[in-house]
Amino acid sequence: MKVYAMTGGATGIGAALRQQLADAGHRVISVDIREGDIIADLSTAAGRETALTGVRELAADGLDGFIACAGLPPVAPVQLIASVNYFAAVEMAAGLKDLVGMRRGTVLLVASNSAPMIENDHPFVQSCLAADEQATLASLADLNGQSVYAGSKRALTVWMRRNVVAWAKAGVRLNAVAPGITLTPLTAQVFADPELGDVMRQFGESVPWGEAAQPGQIANVMRFMLSEEADFVCGSVFFVDGGSDAMLRSDQF
Ligand code: NAD
Repeated sequence: MKVYAMTGGATGIGAALRQQLADAGHRVISVDIREGDIIADLSTAAGRETALTGVRELAADGLDGFIACAGLPPVAPVQLIASVNYFAAVEMAAGLKDLVGMRRGTVLLVASNSAPMIENDHPFVQSCLAADEQATLASLADLNGQSVYAGSKRALTVWMRRNVVAWAKAGVRLNAVAPGITLTPLTAQVFADPELGDVMRQFGESVPWGEAAQPGQIANVMRFMLSEEADFVCGSVFFVDGGSDAMLRSDQF
């Protein structure tokens, strides 16, 4: 039996992964704003403190893995998208690094295949990577939700890649999964949006290998990335998107 902690285990991809890990006999400590072992609003400093303290109490002997799955869609308020999708994910991972290192475990971040849709040198991406959350939140007024969503996932992916070497030395395998469009409460919110709904539906219809994914299809790959079978997978950005990224950026990898 392995011991995992995760955020965002209440619904969607996180709920599917939590269930798969539990079905395989593992213990999963779930942190979420709605339901779970630890209830915490990860958009706030107090919520992150509650989450970190709670996980540390429940997993004093170490973690085999931590999965940062909590996230908000492009239709959420931009400050919340930046706080939850980027800053909370990074802060939770950093705050649990020693527990994961105790067991030579894995930290798996949940990025998105939308991350390549924004450049590394975008001021929002750079601001995230500069690690000043308050300054970043204060700079968002002119940005739309799509840019902040894609930028938060771009920054998360770059942060992961930049930390691979140091974290490997600390006994932590760091990776990211980049899901494509998946049918969850998050996408339901986007489908219901008068501006983005049609764009999202067309994107779903353009997926080369079928249409939108079910959450379990993403969780299957995440569960593999957490497993001992994936022991040499380190620093990878694993696109699970039915071929959409290859369709949009065939010459880049
Ligand atoms: P979802 O809405 O079903 O799940 C998100 C989870 O995060 C929920 O359990 C929710 O309660 C939790 N959460 C939201 N705000 C929180 C907060 N402030 N504090 C604590 N928990 C909070 O959505 P999903 O589609 O399963 O998304 C899971 C992850 O996958 C997200 O990071 C999302 O960005 C990413 N992703 C989703 C898609 C997709 O098409 N669904 C595509 C690419 C990436």
